[in-house]
Amino acid sequence: AKSSGTPLVVHTAELDECAEAAERLGADLRHSLDDGDFTVVYQPIVALRTGRVVAVEALVRWTHPIRGQVSPADFIPVAEDNGLIVELGEWIMRTACRQFARWRAELGDTAPQYVSVNVSARQLSEPGFPDVVAGILMDTGVPAAALLVEVTETALFGGGVAIDAVESLHRAGIRIALDDFGTGHSSLGLLRAVPVDVLKVDKSFVDEITEPGRQAVIVDALIHVSNGLGLRAVAEGVETAEQADYLRELGYDCAQGWHFGRPVAQPDFGAVALIPARTAVID
Ligand code: C2E
Ligand code: MG
Ligand code: MG
Ligand code: MG
Repeated sequence: AKSSGTPLVVHTAELDECAEAAERLGADLRHSLDDGDFTVVYQPIVALRTGRVVAVEALVRWTHPIRGQVSPADFIPVAEDNGLIVELGEWIMRTACRQFARWRAELGDTAPQYVSVNVSARQLSEPGFPDVVAGILMDTGVPAAALLVEVTETALFGGGVAIDAVESLHRAGIRIALDDFGTGHSSLGLLRAVPVDVLKVDKSFVDEITEPGRQAVIVDALIHVSNGLGLRAVAEGVETAEQADYLRELGYDCAQGWHFGRPVAQPDFGAVALIPARTAVID
């Protein structure tokens, strides 16, 4: 080591600050859970051939009493670390299922077919998690076959308990979606080890899909993998009509993104007008 200890000291101080900030945020999460500062918003998942909203993804929102909106990307990891995700996640699942049951009752056949809920690694490895989900379905009257549970490859990477939980959910008739597909560990191996129904191809692959290059090749390859395995493919983060057209031409079933609708409390379930940006995308 160098004689001066300064860099190390600075580094430690920064780490401490980081840990303190996370701890504060964790404590705030606890209060907000009691005070009702969380809401759930819903983003449409659209069938690319019909424009129909086939599913909605539930996404949690936190209005911090002082800081205002905090991104789930910032607080979900904190809630995972301090374990609050178990209680928060159960509240999210219950809230989403209750709302979804209301839409089914109000809208009948025009309601979306599925509600999709993100579930974190910590929730999956909590003993009894499948029973908690079964209880929520029972209480809210949502059929198991209408629930999609979104898990990430990373959440399943540890194997064991998390995979057992996914298998148990699947046996109960719940659909499983692999979220952010292609960004985690051991993507293709997981497709053999875990009962998956839906592949959600990550936004990072969709972003440059209309440019010639690697992204387009990967997105094309993934639709073949998905079709070959009998899965449904959903493209995430679709922001333009060009991307939507391109994905439809490639054979993607469904897509989700700002082009179709942002996550909101009460989405519009009317069919999206599918105006092709150009006629033949792929010759
Ligand atoms: P995710 O599950 O992959 O959700 C998709 C994220 O992409 C959402 O961000 C959504 O608002 C955003 N998004 C959708 N379409 C577009 C688009 O066209 N362009 C761009 N730039 N973004 C788009 P959000 O709501 O901030 O959530 C971020 C992540 O936090 C989620 O990624 C998920 O991993 C996690 N998360 C959100 N809600 C929950 C939850 O209720 N439970 C758990 N465990 N995790 C959650
Ligand atoms: Mg998701
Ligand atoms: Mg995703
Ligand atoms: Mg994501």
